Amino acid sequence: MNYDGDIIRPPSEADSIIIQVTVGCSHNKCTFCGAYKDKSFRLRSEDEILENIAFAAKYCKRQKRVFLADGDALILSQKRLLHIFSLLNTHLPQVRRIGLYGNAKAIRSKTTEELRELKSLGLDRIYMGLESGDDEILQKVKKGESGDAMILAATRVRDAGIFLSVTVLIGLGGINNSLRHAKESARVLSQMQPRQIAALCLMPLSSTPLGAEYKSGDFQLPDAKGMLLELRELIRNITCRRVMFMANHASNHLPLQGILLRDKTMMIEKINAALEGEQPLVPEQFRAL
Ligand code: SF4
Repeated sequence: MNYDGDIIRPPSEADSIIIQVTVGCSHNKCTFCGAYKDKSFRLRSEDEILENIAFAAKYCKRQKRVFLADGDALILSQKRLLHIFSLLNTHLPQVRRIGLYGNAKAIRSKTTEELRELKSLGLDRIYMGLESGDDEILQKVKKGESGDAMILAATRVRDAGIFLSVTVLIGLGGINNSLRHAKESARVLSQMQPRQIAALCLMPLSSTPLGAEYKSGDFQLPDAKGMLLELRELIRNITCRRVMFMANHASNHLPLQGILLRDKTMMIEKINAALEGEQPLVPEQFRAL
């Protein structure tokens, strides 16, 4: 498969055919994110996309899912997306599910009807980064969004009947704003009502502005215990129902997974046990992004 640079995809898309339709991220300003810092955003040409699809049609006949890379493929115009979806349907008839990253701005650039149209052609799953529900933190990390704007975007995805997976970053408020970050994120997530929440732990990268702040001491990251307290506060305050909650990414200190609200007590008890030293944490050298 001919890709431009490294490809990043959600863990749950590990078995998907990756078709790269854009390069980089159209926003690319978040101070904590090093994913696409070395890439200038561009749309891939028709020839490049067709080359990916032709490769997949020849060698990926058993794979039934497609993930459209890179960072926010949903930012493509509706006309362009409809064209790509029809190419996928024609050349990869075995594909049952299409997923992509969509930031809040890209989602809001589509009407509910347009999202429904994409769903009818196979768009099944949108992965969106909330990072924090706290407006001050969002502004500080240059996310370019507010909590309310994220809720609006999430509502549109839900109304279109598309599965929404949302990521929140434990530690993003630093030590000083840790519990506020947790509470505000829980408040916004509860209104977004996604189908899946993934809580990752921030690991500052030296290549990012936040990494530089961390190195200079201007940003103080909570330690493992602080992150667990923050995670507990987040889980405690989430009120939406029937959502898969996952904190089992390689960056997490304590792998956790459950359905909210059903498993809230179980997850909080597991965190309490870890805080009491009765539950082992992932050794630092095994944590990764
Ligand atoms: S976090 Fe998402 S929106 Fe922000 S720069 Fe990274 S890929 Fe782009």
